[in-house]
Amino acid sequence: MKELNAKSAIITGASRGIGAATAREFAELGVNVLLVARTLSETEAIAAEIRNHGGKAEAIACDVSSYSDVAAAIERCKSAFGSVDILVNNAGLIEPIARLGDSDPEEWAHVVDVNYKGVYYGLRAAIPVMAAQGAGVIVNISSGAATSALEGWSHYCSTKAAVLLLTQCVHKEYADLGIRIVGLSPGTVATQMQIAIKASGINPVSQLDPSIHIQPHNVARAIAWLCTQEAAGHDGTDFSLGTDEGRRRAGLAD
Ligand code: NAP
Repeated sequence: MKELNAKSAIITGASRGIGAATAREFAELGVNVLLVARTLSETEAIAAEIRNHGGKAEAIACDVSSYSDVAAAIERCKSAFGSVDILVNNAGLIEPIARLGDSDPEEWAHVVDVNYKGVYYGLRAAIPVMAAQGAGVIVNISSGAATSALEGWSHYCSTKAAVLLLTQCVHKEYADLGIRIVGLSPGTVATQMQIAIKASGINPVSQLDPSIHIQPHNVARAIAWLCTQEAAGHDGTDFSLGTDEGRRRAGLAD
């Protein structure tokens, strides 16, 4: 992972869960990190913790469903650290979980704005900067839900499926310009999102024993590995941590 030292990364959804763990993992590897989420108090506290350990970190309030917020975050990374080498499109929502006939149209559409349009906004703002640099890596956090239908998750499954197609399209368009893009399907992860899923009681994922969930710091290590050249063979795909083989390839012991 030495090749990541002194690179600059933006991580969306960095106030907790997978995004917060990724910010800490990247900082350990010497990556300068810009933490992005709506809750600035949370991201600023993590950035301060990283700075106290000698790392370089900043935080910015950003709602990924707003293109101007996302474009401002990309600009901030460039002005603070000099480049945008890595973008982790991680911010995501699953709530409210409901069968379609019970769903609230505005809330359903809001999940589209965050999970799908938010990823497009990140790509749209970062790609011209990365193309000018001649290099960059984008990791889109996907899900097994991108390819599996689950009751109560029509908003979540369909937005994750759309993001998988975005990953594939952008890989075709920009691989030749040195921009790497890859999806990560992390399996079930011990975060706030799984607590909400369990509380819903709606589909088989809500019945899983929490002890089987992967820990966020392991997902973070896999994200860092995907940013290295060793993982470049997976570009344009969703790499899955849901199998023993995937975890072994990503260098995870458990
Ligand atoms: P989480 O603990 O609920 O964290 C979600 C993060 O997204 C928070 O930092 C939240 O921060 C941020 N966020 C939500 N709406 C946002 C918005 N409009 N603008 C900016 N940030 C926003 O969830 P997680 O489990 O870490 O999930 C991270 C990603 O992994 C998601 O894309 C999720 O779909 C994916 N994933 C998770 C699992 C799992 O089992 N946990 C499995 C597969 C995939 P604020 O509320 O402060 O904005």
